Amino acid sequence: MLPTTTAGSLPKPGWLAETEKIWPAWRLSGAALEDAKRDAALVMLKEQECAGIDIVGDGEQFRQHFVHGFLERIEGVDFGKKRRIGIRADRYEADCPTVTGPIVRPRPVHVEEAAFMRRHTTRQLKFTLPGPMTIVDTLADDYYGDRPRLALAFAQVLNQEVRELERAGVDVIQFDEPAFNVYLDEVAEWGVEALHRAIEGLTCATAVHICYGYGIKANIDWKKTLGGEWRQYERTFPVLAASRLQQVSIEVAGSHVPLELLELLGDKAVLAGVIDVATNQVETPQQVAETIRRVMAHVPPERIIPCTNCGMAPLPRDVARGKLQALGAGAALVRKELGAG
Ligand code: ZN
Repeated sequence: MLPTTTAGSLPKPGWLAETEKIWPAWRLSGAALEDAKRDAALVMLKEQECAGIDIVGDGEQFRQHFVHGFLERIEGVDFGKKRRIGIRADRYEADCPTVTGPIVRPRPVHVEEAAFMRRHTTRQLKFTLPGPMTIVDTLADDYYGDRPRLALAFAQVLNQEVRELERAGVDVIQFDEPAFNVYLDEVAEWGVEALHRAIEGLTCATAVHICYGYGIKANIDWKKTLGGEWRQYERTFPVLAASRLQQVSIEVAGSHVPLELLELLGDKAVLAGVIDVATNQVETPQQVAETIRRVMAHVPPERIIPCTNCGMAPLPRDVARGKLQALGAGAALVRKELGAG
């Protein structure tokens, strides 16, 4: 009951990469870097396990950024041709690589990393990947000239990847789609179709993460323009309820999402964001428990997976560690109340 997990990313240690950045530069190179990534992943795994996180991951220690980490090893994406473009409907600018040819995955991208994690934990293992719409929104395109077509091309290579991740022992595949909160019409038109293509043939659990973004200034400023009630999910949840994805990861803590919208998710499992990543203030276990109880007013506890609102990559390490511990302890409090401790 109430198994805990994170949205995905955790801070990188200062000896691995620059800290508190979403596109941090690595501190090392070559074999030393590869070693350091594995070391960091083990540290982050240990921190999750000690905090009582049930469904663990690599904290995205192996990739510089949650989208570009995958794209770096995809053919047809030229990182030598970076352009500064507005992403998430021009909410902020990023230096993005350009699609210059057919999208091809010449070899596995993250499969060795997943196998490494599998060897080091007996807990359920989750692996996160960028979703097709979010990939398309974090790229310049000189080749396809059509976002749905480009998304389907990425869905195809993502599908090749996740089938191998599943064989490597991953229990949950999660696609990160912050773009789903921005392009509401496109979610129904082609976003979910692209995700369906990406999960084809999987038997493990599948999830989609839809957040209001990392706790960076551009996102915090954007949230201030969304008014007293954030109703983006009202459009996307019915579409997702009808989809073949099993879990939906959403923001609750510190957000203005009206929680009755959760009822629009049908029978999906809800990865309820009970940790706010937009503040360095560490929640108390009691606050986490209270947020879980608020969610329980709309979703039965059997379908709730307490989670973070989004990745914690840009947070200071001690803050992220405190939040992980609060997440584990807060869920344990509610479990105890339910007699499931
Ligand atoms: Zn997120």
